Amino acid sequence: MWPENPIRFCPHCGQSLDHPKSLVNLFWTATTDVYFCWCYHCHWRGEITPVERVESAEVVEEGSMAMPGLAPSSPYLH
Ligand SMILES: [Zn+2]
Repeated sequence: MWPENPIRFCPHCGQSLDHPKSLVNLFWTATTDVYFCWCYHCHWRGEITPVERVESAEVVEEGSMAMPGLAPSSPYLH
């Protein structure tokens, strides 16, 4: 069965990708789902891959969610 398309809106202009001339096309690499998208409204095109886990070298901006396990003495904190 074809999986439901989770990409509903253009990540560039925010318009709905439901337009018949827009395109969302799922394909697979070795281990990941990749959605190729083309937006009719702004002509943005790109690939979107769902991620299970994110690793970041930078601390997220102040005021956003705290990074669990990050010591207060981290040199990244000001
Ligand atoms: Zn767009």
